[in-house]
Amino acid sequence: MLQYTVYADLNCPFCYALHEQLAQFGLLQQVDWCLVEHAPDIAIYNKTAESQAELASEVFVVRSRAPSIDVALPKKRSDSRFASLCVIQAAEIDQQKSIKLRHLLYRALWVDGLDISDISVIYDCLVAAELPAEVSIEEKQEDTLSLWQHNWENGDFNLRIPVICSSDGRTSLGLPSPDDLKAFFKGEDISSHELNMESCPQPVQQTIAIYNDHKTETIWPIIATLRNDYNILLPSSLNELKTLLHEDPPALLLLSTEQQWDEMFALCKEIKSNPEELPLPIAFISQETDDRLELGAYNSGASDFLTLNRAPSILQSRIQLLMQMKHSQDQLARSARIDGLTQVNNRREFERSIETEWRRAQRSKRKLVLIMLDIDHFKVFNDLYGHLAGDGCLRTVAQTIKSTVQRAEDSVYRYGGEEFAVILPESDLKGAQVLAEKIRTNVEALQIKHDGSESAEVVTVSLGIASYSPSEELCPNELIEQADQALYKAKHQGRNQVAI
Ligand code: GH3
Ligand code: MG
Ligand code: MG
Repeated sequence: MLQYTVYADLNCPFCYALHEQLAQFGLLQQVDWCLVEHAPDIAIYNKTAESQAELASEVFVVRSRAPSIDVALPKKRSDSRFASLCVIQAAEIDQQKSIKLRHLLYRALWVDGLDISDISVIYDCLVAAELPAEVSIEEKQEDTLSLWQHNWENGDFNLRIPVICSSDGRTSLGLPSPDDLKAFFKGEDISSHELNMESCPQPVQQTIAIYNDHKTETIWPIIATLRNDYNILLPSSLNELKTLLHEDPPALLLLSTEQQWDEMFALCKEIKSNPEELPLPIAFISQETDDRLELGAYNSGASDFLTLNRAPSILQSRIQLLMQMKHSQDQLARSARIDGLTQVNNRREFERSIETEWRRAQRSKRKLVLIMLDIDHFKVFNDLYGHLAGDGCLRTVAQTIKSTVQRAEDSVYRYGGEEFAVILPESDLKGAQVLAEKIRTNVEALQIKHDGSESAEVVTVSLGIASYSPSEELCPNELIEQADQALYKAKHQGRNQVAI
């Protein structure tokens, strides 16, 4: 049987997710889990805004990549050294109990948000793993930790974690998707796989961004009440906040300050005045009730003023109300984005989405695919059967495209007249080709009589596909242009077909 070595840190959420995933798949027994310190000076800087922001976004990514795994934002990234030494010592006593201890430590930090550098937390884990509660670390354990660290640093891993190495020489860097992980343990080489996001549904939890110009410590009570129910992002600078709002807007923004109220009010006004963006409720967080500041918040466009001296359940309820408000606002905004005749997204929405998805693809280094589709000989259809029949046909074709495109992140747009577009984030040409062919056959299978069509006796569509990969120097318009050219090719080659 193949053996595996993993290099991982206790204080990395990706490593935690890998550990949980292997436990779920019953594969932990095949693994030598070598604990390393990916950031040895963590204790010094783990309270800075940058490290907190980084931690929040890592948790966010883990949640979207491994949705079946329970993970919540902890207050800080613990120094993992002593906990790691305890695991190593435990293995000398009992291998199985040491695995249990590791599991408990991971969960203490990444589920319960406890500080695993805290002796009392380690003590509880030792007891729960039925291990002796008193540990005395010797040189031997230190040597093991140093050896693992050395092997990881000098392996060809670019200092990434988690790393999985198999006894037959394969390597996996980073957290693989559940399917890739299973494939790797079946002996397949997944090193060439791009991030396979196909199997990962979008995160279901909504995101709350908290922008705070002072110590996160002071607003921790509010993060603590929210961290299990929402994705929390903590942009560490104004620039980071603006990028976030622009590229991947959260459902709610909380602003917190101690002294810079006027600046925060101005920021709130500025965000609220941008008509292009989706509605974004903003609430202020204050230490105490203050009528003057509260009024200032409402005057700058905020929807609520939360004070930290209220019970957590009150804060929770108020946040829920804000989320409901956001939901209704979104629904209202959505109705303005739908094409009345076909009930798919309209052209304006297409322009907005292609820009957003473009930026998202660039940022996450993933592909973006566009399908353009046009009904064949539709002018003749109108001439033969009348405009009303034409409208009915448009509606039926649009709904057929929509029901063929099933993934939540893929969306259908009426680009104009009898032309439609499908935007496929996180897909590739091969996947898009399969989908386009499905759309083509499904429309043909509707068997809408079309005696004026030269290519078939029924209504058919031609489709053009273009894809963008992050390494290319393209802009959204060029992608549309290329998809259009492919569509032209499909028309030229005889219609009722897909071209790339
Ligand atoms: P091709 O196969 O090359 O695409 O030929 P075509 O006849 O489909 O293309 P053309 O661009 O010449 O004609 C498009 C027609 O679509 C013209 C217009 O009457 C019809 N059309 C556009 N929008 C609507 C609409 O909202 N309702 C109806 N009934 N027809 C529409
Ligand atoms: Mg046409
Ligand atoms: Mg046309």
